[in-house]
Amino acid sequence: MNNSDKIRKKLTYQRKNFWHVQPDDVHQQAFAFADGYKKFLNDCKTERETIYYLAELAKKEGFKNIDAQDGARKLYSFFRNKNAAFARLGKNPVSEGVNLIVSHIDAPRIDLKQNPLAEDGETKLGILKTHYYGGIKKYQWMSTPLALHGVFVTRKGKTVRITIGEDKNDPVFIMPDLLPHLAKNEQYSKKLGDAVTAGQMNVIFNSIPFPGDDDQEIKEAVKLNALNLLNKKYGITETDFLSAELELVPAGLARDAGFDGSMIAAYGQDDRVCAYTSWQALLSLTQDPERTAVVYLADKEEIGSESNTGAKSVFILDFIADLLAANGESSDSVTLRKTLIRSQILSADVNAAINPNYPGVHEKDNAVHLGYGVSVTKYTGQGGKSGSNDANAEFNAKVIDIFETAGVNWQTGTLGKVDEGGGGTIAKFMAQYGAEVIDCGPGLLGMHAMYELSSKADVYSTYKAYHTFFEKA
Ligand code: MN
Ligand code: MN
Repeated sequence: MNNSDKIRKKLTYQRKNFWHVQPDDVHQQAFAFADGYKKFLNDCKTERETIYYLAELAKKEGFKNIDAQDGARKLYSFFRNKNAAFARLGKNPVSEGVNLIVSHIDAPRIDLKQNPLAEDGETKLGILKTHYYGGIKKYQWMSTPLALHGVFVTRKGKTVRITIGEDKNDPVFIMPDLLPHLAKNEQYSKKLGDAVTAGQMNVIFNSIPFPGDDDQEIKEAVKLNALNLLNKKYGITETDFLSAELELVPAGLARDAGFDGSMIAAYGQDDRVCAYTSWQALLSLTQDPERTAVVYLADKEEIGSESNTGAKSVFILDFIADLLAANGESSDSVTLRKTLIRSQILSADVNAAINPNYPGVHEKDNAVHLGYGVSVTKYTGQGGKSGSNDANAEFNAKVIDIFETAGVNWQTGTLGKVDEGGGGTIAKFMAQYGAEVIDCGPGLLGMHAMYELSSKADVYSTYKAYHTFFEKA
């Protein structure tokens, strides 16, 4: 190495390719970690399913309900079947601040309308009307197999969970797109975002009419047959749809992607990749950390973190107050406020990696590259950083230092070119408590598409980063 190369190596910031700099055994660890991650993605396609899955696992892993206040050090709280928080009490008092990683477990999807079932008068097909959830490109969801996940909660309070379309013997559901032969006026002449409207996103639900007497015409016989079949199978009536939460998601399993199997193609990686890696990071602690480690899984991020299960809700404050009490400390409002101010938070969410098909929307020096590790993102937002949590330099430097020291593959990355668009995360809501907050997560290709692409290198680096944050920050 000549002198200028030496100086360059010492003085310049270079993001490092995980596969290049990490040894073979770490490559193998990344592949092995991805297997558990894919299973998680397959079992947790909705926010509720994520909670059901972790509720079972948390008990197996020795976590105790925080409400019991029985001296346990590993604690959980589940909230309204859509939120969770897990903690491992630290050696230091909780009131000295916690290290918290927050991610979200909702993903863009197609919800059913509350009164969804109808029969098309002309075609005599049974349809389900939908209402999309989150930021989707509507055309992506047409003519592709969908599975129906969710719950009916009857007036008597009985919950009926359903999943249709994931088993290979299950039927799937299709919202049929327009054939290209007849798309000239309806679609090709329009802007991409207008070519499919919300009103055209109806699922074809069934087609066999209710069996009637020979010559008697039955009114809406196909819809009636649908209701009859639903009642036989699930014991529900049309009224039960009105209170149901039913979500259409891409049918099928998470898959390895790429000839070398180095990537993962799957639905809902935004942001279950951060949910899974933060949960695994908490499990990986072999002893009580110095500072209490908290994993918080929020809902409703994709629609602005609203509602009592979104990050704007009081749930996480309540959990941290309970942590203070569980550790034998005062949980009065002043102590809680001071605890939050002294806390350190990773807003764990995905970023947009440079897409070779659309390089123009990124600014390469400040963009995430797939396979180069977890991103440390100082700010998100749009325009002049509007709507962002612009992390403090002091905390940003600290996070970079602990990752670098631990040999974690990390990179800097903001979301696209300035004024190209933008987006936000939970970071700004957590920052309201006065804690240090920074965005930190892997890059994806095709975020919010039905099948998002991640790198096993980045998923594993994210897990290592979160582990390091819990142990060292
Ligand atoms: Mn997200
Ligand atoms: Mn998102």
